[in-house]
Amino acid sequence: MFEIANIHARQVLDSRGNPTLECDVTLDDGVLGRAAVPSGASTGEHEAVELRDGKKHWMGKGVTKAVRHVNEIIAPELFGADVRNQEGIDRLILELDGTENKSQLGANATLGVSLAVAHAAAIACELPLWRYLGGSHARTLPCPMLNILNGGKHADNTVDFQEFMIQPWGFDTFDDALRAGVEIYHTLKQVLHDAHLSTAVGDEGGFAPNLKSNEEALEMIARAVKKAGYDLGTQIKIALDPATSELANEAKKLAKSSSKRKAGVGYCFFKSDPKRIVSSDEMIDLWSGWCRKWPICSIEDGLSEDDWSGWANLTRVLGSTTQLVGDDLFVTNPKFLARGIKEGCANAILVKVNQIGTLSEALEAVELADKSGYRSILSHRSGETEDATIADLAVATNCGQIKTGAPCRSDRNAKYNQLLRISEELGENALFAGHA
Ligand code: PGA
Ligand code: ZN
Repeated sequence: MFEIANIHARQVLDSRGNPTLECDVTLDDGVLGRAAVPSGASTGEHEAVELRDGKKHWMGKGVTKAVRHVNEIIAPELFGADVRNQEGIDRLILELDGTENKSQLGANATLGVSLAVAHAAAIACELPLWRYLGGSHARTLPCPMLNILNGGKHADNTVDFQEFMIQPWGFDTFDDALRAGVEIYHTLKQVLHDAHLSTAVGDEGGFAPNLKSNEEALEMIARAVKKAGYDLGTQIKIALDPATSELANEAKKLAKSSSKRKAGVGYCFFKSDPKRIVSSDEMIDLWSGWCRKWPICSIEDGLSEDDWSGWANLTRVLGSTTQLVGDDLFVTNPKFLARGIKEGCANAILVKVNQIGTLSEALEAVELADKSGYRSILSHRSGETEDATIADLAVATNCGQIKTGAPCRSDRNAKYNQLLRISEELGENALFAGHA
């Protein structure tokens, strides 16, 4: 009853209307595990390769090649395999691919199968996925990072930094924390509306107004938190993901077209003031200043993926007081994380399953982080589907934090709703990462 009888992948659509891969794993007794693959927009340079067809249809974004790789290459090798052997199956998929970055089969192909195998195994064991993967120890509901104001590559506005999130830490339960986040989200809409600003949303469901400065985003959020009746600082903290690899990429493009090349990594404020390019040290000063002024508990990708020495400086300056999260820097890859640990870069890792391409490797990254005193945050991508696997993974790993967008659009709320179900199922046994 645990043997794979069939694996079938298909092309479906993600939240941006781009094709993505969905995979079904069917067992000999008819049990069906299903998973769909997310997709990023501000992708790290060293992420595993997302295979796209590149032809005329679907603006080049079709995934029919990756689908064929599942159905014709991976599936025949896995018939009869026991789905409880996740590690063994993932290892076999890696061998079939044979490359460092999954460029042969595509990380979208490998991840679809890997996650669907886990779902099938959990159903066959008559356990919810979080319990199957986490065992009896899994009972911590994560503190959500709600991305309520969007900029950068995720929105068509004047804000350079990609994500302004709130984290409702000061609550006893996940349900109360989520409620506060939702109330603040709706209140922010009123605040923006009253200021005659747009309430249209970006890719992750957060509002995407044109603002006079990046810092105005924090002012708007502070106003919304207060108006909603919460205390910014004790109950609600601010988390940022400025996604500065994008600012560095824009600076590189500018440097190429100009004769005045400066040494070191530069950061270009490509939306608000494209002529403004600052150094790594100036970015660190900017974050230090903001942290003195605002209750910021976490900064992700505060420097770019190429700026390892800058990261070590940033960590020396802010690492003892602020969570510094490597997303593009680590790309969920245990090897990059190991380098960060050795060089004193960051103190947390963002875990995005499609950055690495198998469940086992993503869990390996969490394990290494745990052992090294780094925190892990389970994360969505800007392109998502109704698949809510990351909610289960956050509880299974007891990692304590999840980043899954604004409480808006079903692709984001699918994860929050799954956490509400898990919260209900755990009942009194649930721990909330918040106050604790
Ligand atoms: P992405 O953005 O999914 O577009 O890469 C999310 C993030 O940077 O955290
Ligand atoms: Zn990020």
